[in-house]
Amino acid sequence: MSRTFLGLPRTLRRPDDAGADQPFGPVPHPQEPLRWGDDFPAAAKQTLKNDQLRRNLGHATQVIRTKRAAVVGEVPDWEALRDAGSAVKQQVMAHLPDLLQQLEENVVARGGVVHWARDAAEANRIVADIAKAKGADEVVKVKSMATQEIGLNEALADEGIAAIETDLAELIVQLADDMPSHILVPAIHRNRSEIRDIFLARMGDAPPDLSDVPRELAMAARAHLRRKFLSAKVAVSGANFAVADTGTLAVVESEGNGRMCLTLPETLVTVMGIEKLVPTFDDLEVFLQLLPRSSTGERMNPYTSLWTGVTPGDGPQEFHLVLLDNGRTDVLADEVGRSALHCIRCSACLNVCPVYERVGGHAYGSVYPGPIGAILTPQLTASTGGVSGHHDPNASLPYASSLCGACYEVCPVKIDIPSILVDLRAREVDADRSTRGVDPWRTAMKAASWVMADGDRFALAGRAATLGSGLGGRDHAISVAPPPASAWTKARDLPAPPRQTFREWWKTREDDRPTGTTPATAEEDA
Ligand code: SF4
Repeated sequence: MSRTFLGLPRTLRRPDDAGADQPFGPVPHPQEPLRWGDDFPAAAKQTLKNDQLRRNLGHATQVIRTKRAAVVGEVPDWEALRDAGSAVKQQVMAHLPDLLQQLEENVVARGGVVHWARDAAEANRIVADIAKAKGADEVVKVKSMATQEIGLNEALADEGIAAIETDLAELIVQLADDMPSHILVPAIHRNRSEIRDIFLARMGDAPPDLSDVPRELAMAARAHLRRKFLSAKVAVSGANFAVADTGTLAVVESEGNGRMCLTLPETLVTVMGIEKLVPTFDDLEVFLQLLPRSSTGERMNPYTSLWTGVTPGDGPQEFHLVLLDNGRTDVLADEVGRSALHCIRCSACLNVCPVYERVGGHAYGSVYPGPIGAILTPQLTASTGGVSGHHDPNASLPYASSLCGACYEVCPVKIDIPSILVDLRAREVDADRSTRGVDPWRTAMKAASWVMADGDRFALAGRAATLGSGLGGRDHAISVAPPPASAWTKARDLPAPPRQTFREWWKTREDDRPTGTTPATAEEDA
């Protein structure tokens, strides 16, 4: 089985036209390609071998964390803003059908066209048909997770239409036939010398003497993209927010590439997950404060583009809005899991996650990595049946967490990620139990319960365990154990049993204590 996301093969292809003016060459790959049948533990094992990846991630996430903490600390009512963001999102989920209808009416009233897409295939078909009707063999794209989720670039390539990513990091990822590894910084796993090599190998108009100075790299990409902006007839974007009561769409970004895409081409197609709504224009104010501080650690992002339908003589003269479900209504029906739909894709939870920082985004095998990916991806794939008939490799994602709670503390809309992770784990255990004859975990827990229910049995088990005290070597850790303990030692060491049980140790202390003195606590003795 090849690994799929939302039912689509995760192939990574360059646009068909890329070869004509862009000589292909070998590009550095940060790791051996992952096998997409792997679940998270297998993929993580592979990415953990990559020291360069870990160094890049460690540095980048630490810088973003520090910046975020500084700008969040400046806002005296930050907690009240988080509460407001959470409340607005709950209101949206409670009234989603009505709000979507209101949005549609307002977009249409202002000259836009609204399309409803049940799944990835429908959404891709709608976008491809619009591009073909305009005679476009190339579209420029604003960075968009929704279009990555549905595999739009690959679907357009199948129709002979090249989708050009215009966000710098997305361009790097696309040129390298790579995959994004972070929501906000998709090329976080690449350093600047790798980027120079990618540009020289894959961007035909890169200066041959290109250095790895960041400004030079940015200028080379800028010149390359300018030509694309000026020639494209059709642009494709996602949306950070859509305002139901006005029909306004919003994209926030840092580079200005989004503004180019949203204003220069004649036709604009926006693909938006149905959960991205806010009821009123005033609600937008809350999120435009929460999002930049949580994502890039800025007080305000450099570019906020807002557009409402079509304005004669100004910007695209044809606007299409594709409202994408692709499993979201099923997630919405789930009382515990639905708050994953509150996510505003700021990526703050990735930057504080100890698991993400070590394994990187590729190990999650989806466009949504880190803690949000661990709760959103399994719910979306379960509901779209992307892996029907097989064990879903995404079912292991809720275990990609230490449950430390750091993700909840930084989430600007207060999604209780740890609680959802625990709930999803419980479902996975239940599902597993129903498909297995004997459940070794349940059997082991029953045995432990029997032993621990009786003091004598527990003492006997403790004494028996001390027989294994010599197994750990000098560091008192067992790295390889026979089944069933091998399930544990596959990923981590098992502490060797101590030479003495706690009861024995306590008794020795008591026996050695002079009569009449107060018994010490274990901590004092230690
Ligand atoms: S779950 Fe919260 S912290 Fe994570 S990306 Fe979404 S909004 Fe940001």
